[in-house]
Amino acid sequence: MSTAAVDAMAPHPAGPHWMVRLNRINRIASYLMLFAILGAHMRVQPSGYGLYAWGLLGLQFLVYPHVAYWRACRARDTRQAELHNLTIDSLLFGIWAAAFGFPVWITFTLFITTTINHALYRDPWAMTHSAAAIAVGVLLALAIGGLHFSPATDWPTTALCISGLTLYLVIVANVAYTRNHQLHRVRRQLQLDEQALQKQLDEINALQKQLSDQANRDALTGLYNRRYLDSTLERELARCQREGQPLSLMLIDIDHFKQINDTYGHQAGDEVLKQLADMLNAQARSADVVCRFGGEEFLLLLPNMPQAVAQERAEQWRRDFAANTIVFGEFRMQVTLSIGLASYPGHGTSPQALIRSADRALYRAKTEGRNRVVVAELSSPTSHPAT
Ligand code: GH3
Ligand code: MG
Ligand code: MG
Repeated sequence: MSTAAVDAMAPHPAGPHWMVRLNRINRIASYLMLFAILGAHMRVQPSGYGLYAWGLLGLQFLVYPHVAYWRACRARDTRQAELHNLTIDSLLFGIWAAAFGFPVWITFTLFITTTINHALYRDPWAMTHSAAAIAVGVLLALAIGGLHFSPATDWPTTALCISGLTLYLVIVANVAYTRNHQLHRVRRQLQLDEQALQKQLDEINALQKQLSDQANRDALTGLYNRRYLDSTLERELARCQREGQPLSLMLIDIDHFKQINDTYGHQAGDEVLKQLADMLNAQARSADVVCRFGGEEFLLLLPNMPQAVAQERAEQWRRDFAANTIVFGEFRMQVTLSIGLASYPGHGTSPQALIRSADRALYRAKTEGRNRVVVAELSSPTSHPAT
């Protein structure tokens, strides 16, 4: 025996297709019913049937269903093997109908059971396939036994056909209904699972956003932190360079902040930081990036903003903040700011050079008396080569 043949005989590792399992019961039961119907018919025929015919009937309707199941289970493709079984059913039914001379009720019962099976397990068009297989069976029987025609059946056989067929159709309808019902339940469950998964995904996304926000923001003021600035400044500067746009950096430092802490307490200092953060956030454009650069230093990244406009803004904010009285408990505080300003391209062409220029300008603002805005000195092309 070839290895392919041995493989084909081996039981299928994943078990047979559901169709094979379902059809096993279906075939055993319906063949039993057909055995009773054909037996009833054979019993009353005047010509009588010998042991040979009864043996064939038993083999076909009592033994064959088990052989068909065994064959399908051992096939490499169990579903395909079961479809072949359905074709063999039709072919054999054609032989039986012709051999008996086409008794109407029996022929109809044989035809309808095998055709419905085809429609159930293949598709509605498979009834033509079934009809063709029946026709081949009929032709085979006619070729062997010749044509004879005896359409009548006695009333017990007819009654058996009608009740058997009714039972068969009810069972088929029940199978179809159960499968539909199961399908509906599985679909509904799948929908619910999908909704639950989507909800979990939304929660994960929200958490992820919250985490990345936390990683990029300062806890006290809610402003972006230096980590975020580092990645954004590089990207924004590259964009402005590409588009030939200016970019300004504004470095803001609270004057004598240590004194505020020492005089009014650390919490009052925190309040000053928060109020400055709120003002900057409220005044900045949506494209601006407002960061807490360090302790009491803030850095504003102002894309597409030329130095002159940035200077005007800085002056405005400095004046506004100085004019504002910060209230904390019973304390009233007047706080001033020193601001260093640097712009691309005049004061540097790299993030580091621009921050350095703004820092030097801020240092000058401090040394020149605080509460003022100082613009960085123009950098010479040799000291800051283009990057
Ligand atoms: P200058 O005018 O030269 O800037 O003087 P300054 O006192 O503002 O600067 P200095 O660097 O001497 O002091 C900064 C202080 O800011 C020291 C530090 O304790 C305080 N500080 C840093 N972070 C915080 C904070 O989150 N909350 C509070 N309340 N104080 C802070
Ligand atoms: Mg400082
Ligand atoms: Mg300070």
